[in-house]
Amino acid sequence: MNTPAYIGRFAPTPSGYLHFGSLVAALASYLDARAVNGRWLLRMEDLDPPREVAGAQAAILRTLECYGLEWDGELVRQSTRHGEYAALVERLLSQGLAYACTCSRKQLAGSQGIYPGTCRNAGHGFADAAIRLRVPELNYHFVDRVQGDYRQHLGREGGDFVIRRRDGLYAYQLAVVLDDAWQGVTDVVRGADLLDSTPRQLYLQELLGLPQPRYLHVPLITQPDGHKLGKSYRSPPLPADQATVLLMRALRALGQSLPEGADYGTPSELLHWASQHWDASRIARSLTLAEAQLL
Ligand code: GLU
Ligand code: ZN
Repeated sequence: MNTPAYIGRFAPTPSGYLHFGSLVAALASYLDARAVNGRWLLRMEDLDPPREVAGAQAAILRTLECYGLEWDGELVRQSTRHGEYAALVERLLSQGLAYACTCSRKQLAGSQGIYPGTCRNAGHGFADAAIRLRVPELNYHFVDRVQGDYRQHLGREGGDFVIRRRDGLYAYQLAVVLDDAWQGVTDVVRGADLLDSTPRQLYLQELLGLPQPRYLHVPLITQPDGHKLGKSYRSPPLPADQATVLLMRALRALGQSLPEGADYGTPSELLHWASQHWDASRIARSLTLAEAQLL
């Protein structure tokens, strides 16, 4: 079988609607794939029903469609893959690579997000406990196509991390690594808020013997007050009737050139033009970008 040289994906979480920042990330991922005739997949990361906003999944699909961001193949929902995640967690537990953690939020409050390893050798039962993956006391390093060198010491900068929450829900880090490999993703293009998740994902890939995709993290779009457009910020859905204008603004955010003249045509026509002129090296090497500068 001929495996395509490039498989990209967009992987939204339906905890809100797509906002301008997610449009920038989706567009970068789409154009990076289309510029080399690659495939572009869509995966709904609906792992956390309590945080899901009613109607967000349908709204995300509608927005992608009316912005001309057509994906290849069937949409994959992570909510249909619990069996695979469960099997992996079982395997990691049985190999002693993961363990049960019963620490309360309160117990962890003083450790500034770095898990102190309290339950590492406690031998807790797996019921009513979070499951954490042991991390090595090592630096993980990769070269991001835009942000350049990035390294993180897994032990010192994060510690053993949760792969299944105490409420039984699977963690993003586990699902994203398994699914990117399962879908054959060669190139991950996403927002810079996930840059510091990448070393944990590299470790999981190494542990599971999975190939490492290339990474490109695009700047996060911030509001005038410095607020990042994101999950915690309730943004309204992107307006359907302004697709071309907002795609132009997103192209500008990515440092791309724009077609000459005033008639940019339909979103699909603009995207086609943009994919032929895509130059990822023009994306700003910056973790954030103020939306106000793009108006
Ligand atoms: N679902 C994640 C988010 O919406 C993105 C995951 C990824 O691209 O790796 O932030
Ligand atoms: Zn613990």
